[in-house]
Amino acid sequence: MTGFDERMLMKGLFPGLLALLLCTQLQAATVRVQTIRIADTGSQTRVVLDLDRTTDHKLFTLSNPHRVVVDLPAGILTAQAALFPDGQGLVSGIRGANRSDGSTRIVLDVGQPVRPRSFVIGPDGEHGHRLVVDLLPLDQPVVVKTMPDALGSDRDLVIAVDPGHGGKDPGARGRSGLLEKDAVLQIGRRLARKIDQEPGMRAALTRKDDSFIHLRERMEHARSQQADLFISIHADAFRDRRIRGATVYVLSDKGATDEAALRLAERENAADLVGGVTLRDKDQMLASVLLDLSQNASLSSSMDAGDQVLDELRRIGKIRKLQVQQAPFIVLKSPDIPSILIETAFISNRYDESNLGSVQYQERLAHAIFVGVRSYFYDHPPPGTKVATLARTYRPREVQYVIRRGDTLSGIANRYQVPVRRIRDANHIPGDKLVIGRVLLIPQPHDI
Ligand SMILES: [Zn+2]
Repeated sequence: MTGFDERMLMKGLFPGLLALLLCTQLQAATVRVQTIRIADTGSQTRVVLDLDRTTDHKLFTLSNPHRVVVDLPAGILTAQAALFPDGQGLVSGIRGANRSDGSTRIVLDVGQPVRPRSFVIGPDGEHGHRLVVDLLPLDQPVVVKTMPDALGSDRDLVIAVDPGHGGKDPGARGRSGLLEKDAVLQIGRRLARKIDQEPGMRAALTRKDDSFIHLRERMEHARSQQADLFISIHADAFRDRRIRGATVYVLSDKGATDEAALRLAERENAADLVGGVTLRDKDQMLASVLLDLSQNASLSSSMDAGDQVLDELRRIGKIRKLQVQQAPFIVLKSPDIPSILIETAFISNRYDESNLGSVQYQERLAHAIFVGVRSYFYDHPPPGTKVATLARTYRPREVQYVIRRGDTLSGIANRYQVPVRRIRDANHIPGDKLVIGRVLLIPQPHDI
């Protein structure tokens, strides 16, 4: 089953599923709580009970003082679990006890009213059965990034860069063996470096190495970093190996722009099914559906950002579709962050595959995406950001320089008042050797 189908189905099935989890006696046997873990992502606090088997449970809140209670009708806290971790995030403390009737009660002390959710997950890889309790602030405001910054200080723009796939999920594979996960990691890291070098902008990579990350975690990471834009980077594959070129997508709730876009969304979403479907992802998917209220605002921002990136990609290579496409990608389903997904090229096409494997082309792709993103933000600077201040006085522009006989890197750097390192990075020149006639991109510092 694809992620897309699931999302459609979840709307109808979830209440039933929830009732099943909370009310049905799944197991009468005693469950052992082996350990208790806690983590805070900034937007929510998660408490995980590691169990030796699945169980039913009751979850409820009490006030005065505010508490969240988890009851296991037949449970035992092991000595390890009874060590209880220190509180984090919304949880100020955890306690619990085995009770004389054979049940176990675990209490999460919270300093404010919270919205709890719970679900059980079966074993996957490193973890066994788990009961997960997520706590969100009761009145969590949905932050729309176009609102003025309450602090009035100039903050950096945060751009979440999301190299697709990773770890056990290789993504698409080229005929010569190039893996999508490896190519997009390279492009993503180069893009992040360019963003970090730009005044007023900061990158947040969802993965920095070859690790597997669930789609929802990628979005959570962006949200915890308070990202202003989310860019997911992929490389497409198609049965027809002649097809090549880049495509830029934004999320659509209404369905895909075309059939190919829908099939692609199904394939990219299915990445999250590697290693088995987890309830956790479904649960968070539902949360996203509920938070859809501000989606329309970020959809038009996503379209604008996508347009600018597409414009830049058009300069460097083949484009499959001239317009930004819409498709129901799970990874883009953020209620509050404008998001785009870039299929940089078709790894199934041999020209595109060799391009994707080339450091120089990766650099050009990263540069094109970067320039597109920067243009977008200079057109639509969120108030309260450094870029909003800068945008009042100048617009960054590209300068190209054709290398002439006798040029040196330090000479060119000096002429443009740009550090040699930045020219090297922008053009991927490892040493000092220059090729006469080659066009150099000169990164522009803030020249008014
Ligand atoms: Zn992909």
